[in-house]
Formats: sequence, C-alpha cells, structure tokens
Amino acid sequence: MIPIAAPLLAEEEADAAREVVLSGWVSQGPQVAAFEREFAALVGAPHACAVANCTAALQLALAALDIGAGDEVITVSHSFIATANAIRYQGATPVFVDIDPETYNLDCARLAEAITGHTRAIIAVHQMGMPCDMAALMAVARHHGIAVIEDAACAAGSQIRMSGEWEPIGKPHGHIACFSFHPRKVITTGEGGMLTTADPELDRRFRLLRQHGMSIPDTVRHGSSRVIFEDYLVVGYNYRMTDIQAAVGRKQLERLPELVARRRAVAAKYAELLGSFAGLRLPAESEWARSNWQSYCVGLPDRLDQRTVMQNLLNKGIATRRGIMCSHREPPYANANHRHSLRQSEAAQARSILLPIYAQMKEEDQLCVANAIRAELAHGYN
Ligand SMILES: *Cc1c(COP(=O)(O)O)cnc(C)c1O
Repeated sequence: MIPIAAPLLAEEEADAAREVVLSGWVSQGPQVAAFEREFAALVGAPHACAVANCTAALQLALAALDIGAGDEVITVSHSFIATANAIRYQGATPVFVDIDPETYNLDCARLAEAITGHTRAIIAVHQMGMPCDMAALMAVARHHGIAVIEDAACAAGSQIRMSGEWEPIGKPHGHIACFSFHPRKVITTGEGGMLTTADPELDRRFRLLRQHGMSIPDTVRHGSSRVIFEDYLVVGYNYRMTDIQAAVGRKQLERLPELVARRRAVAAKYAELLGSFAGLRLPAESEWARSNWQSYCVGLPDRLDQRTVMQNLLNKGIATRRGIMCSHREPPYANANHRHSLRQSEAAQARSILLPIYAQMKEEDQLCVANAIRAELAHGYN
C-alpha cells in the first residue's frame, strides 16, 4: 500500500517525549517556550505563540484583532473547512472569493470587488504549501486598511520572494500567520498550532486568550517564591499546547529543512515522470514561490471520472484524495448567500486529485503511481 502521506517520526521524537513525561511537567511549560523561540527564529518572526491546533490559532488571530458579529472576513471556500469555521466561531461572516486555477490559491484579481464597508480581514491560505501571492494581496489590503491573516497550516518550510529576497512563510508577510502540526502537514506534534506576528500587542493577546484570559501564567506562579494571585481579564480559552507535543515539535523543526528538500525532490520526480502525459495538469510554482509540497495535486482531463480514477488507483494499492474541498458546498455554509462566483473552486474540487507524497517516498513507488496514472489516461479513450 502506498499511503497518501506519512509523518517522519523516529527515535529522537520518542526520546524527547519520554524525557518530558519523566520530567514532572507535561502541560504548557519550558518545552513550549523553547519550541516558540526556535520556530520564531526559523521563520524569522519576532514572536511565535504555540496553541492546541491551527483551527484555534485562526480563531485567536481573529479574536486578537477584535473581529466579531457584523464583520466580514474574505477568504477562499476552496480550503479545509477549519478556515471558514474559525470565522464563524467569532460570529463573523466568511465572504468567499474564487481561486486562481493554476495555484489553487485566492485569485487576488477578484479581491477588490469582494471588499465592502464591513470587511475587517482577509485570510490568505497558502494551499497545500504553495505560497499565495502576498505581494498582490498586501497591496490591496494596505490600500483598504484591512488586516491580513495567513492560513499557513500547510506551509511550514515554504518560501516566498518578497522585494527580491527569499523569505520563509511565517515571517509574517501579513499581520499574523497560523501554522498546523497535524500529521497531514510537513512537520507534526500529533495536534498543534503556532501563531507568528511582528506585533508584540497581538502576541500578548494570543497568550492571554490561549490560557483562560489568565493574567499570570501557571509557569510563573510555579516558579515564584512569593504567593501570587492571578486575575482572569477576558473570556479566554484553553488552547494550550502540551510540553510533550512541544518537545516532539522541536525535533521535527530540526528535520524541517531536510524534509522539505526531500519533498521537493519527490515533486521534481513527479514532474519528470508525469510531465509528458497529455491531458494531465501538473502543479507549478510561480517564479516567486517555493512550495514545501505538503500535497501534490494534479488536474484530470474532463473525460475521466474522478471517483473511478481514485478507485482504480486504490485497487492497485495507491491512496489518493480528491481535490481540496469547497466549504460553501457543506451544510453549515450551503444556505448562505455567496456573492461571488466560485466556479474555479468547484472545478478544482471535482477535477483534481492529490497523489501520495511524503519525505521518505521511494522512487519505485513514484514509478508505480506514474504507471497507474498512465493506465487511467489510456482508459479514458475506450
Ligand atoms: C489542516 C488545515 C487547517 C486546520 O489545522 P488543524 O491543526 O488540524 O486545526 C486549517 N487550514 C488549512 C488550510 C489546513 O490545511
């Protein structure tokens, strides 16, 4: 069986978790603080705040910007449903904009027409690790004075060229960037998330909100020789990461450059193997984007049925997934009045499939995938 994805976890991660378990401090503590420092350094962000998962990170990003009922947040429907749900958690309204079919990312040419007097923020998704066009997006956002949150759930290790320099996603290029460490992403802590920002006030709010609105974290009380009483300043959440997760995350961070290099080699091999297949659309980087290749998404020709192709591949022991979902087609969003055409988003969901990709993928398995795809393309003519 060739899986769709496979995390690379080994003895180093297991040892790190074991040490924390035996240390006597397993909740948010020194390992989380160290993971935050190391993540911030890696992406070049002034501040990084670890949380329970990326969905929580997205919600805290909106909450820290005081976005709530009556506010509109522009984003894509063509994303994992967590992007839209985070907006709903805050009582705000997601306004969906279509994607550019070449990158599966928000089509910045359609951004201006979606902005109204109620627009407070844009959530730009770096879908499947492919950087969204932040230069174009930020130009529109700055012009209208709108905050930008990057949904970088899939994009740890991706890079974007801004003003001539290659920079890691997460610097951040908007106001806040949110990452996921779910096992389907490039590095994992089981569950986990991270917010980065250049704004110390936003970082302070993330820290308050992730821990019940508590004025003094329990780590500080624990280490104090004097009695301290804490206050609860706002209605916060319990969105903490554990020290067990953070210790695993620190080991994963050490591996990140190598994991991305290997994924880029796997993607390059796919491009070589599949490049000559007529009718198959391959993903490609813009000259200002370097993907971490969290996913490898190919567009099928119209004559092939997506589900049949996926089933035939599964019968040969190859796991695939259909193209990224469209949130506006799911019950919680289906009845809303969507103001803008989402034709490209719907086509991408219906006409593309995700192929297996992971750092340790063997070349023979890639050959196997390529042969199976070739057979499907040949079928289509019968
Ligand atoms: C995975 C993912 C999320 C959610 O991340 P969790 O850590 O599982 O909460 C959000 N947005 C996108 C684009 C994702 O791919």
